[in-house]
Amino acid sequence: MEILVRKCTRCDDTLSIVKHSDTDFQGAGYFTRYEVPIGEGDFTETGTVNVDGNEFPLVKWEGETKEVEYWECEKCAENAGR
Ligand SMILES: [Zn+2]
Repeated sequence: MEILVRKCTRCDDTLSIVKHSDTDFQGAGYFTRYEVPIGEGDFTETGTVNVDGNEFPLVKWEGETKEVEYWECEKCAENAGR
């Protein structure tokens, strides 16, 4: 078990989170992780996607990435309908 101190991404409230595992935690409403591109690199077009009749390119980042945590407090998560 781990105690994490994080900030709610939406309202900036400080969260004290009891982490039991990667998906099991108490003290926050919503949590996810995603990767963001860092440093230098290129986007490679891998195809297209059709959204409401418009074609958009699908791209893949070829450079380095960094994992980012996204936290919301219980109130913000509830307001967002999570
Ligand atoms: Zn919040």
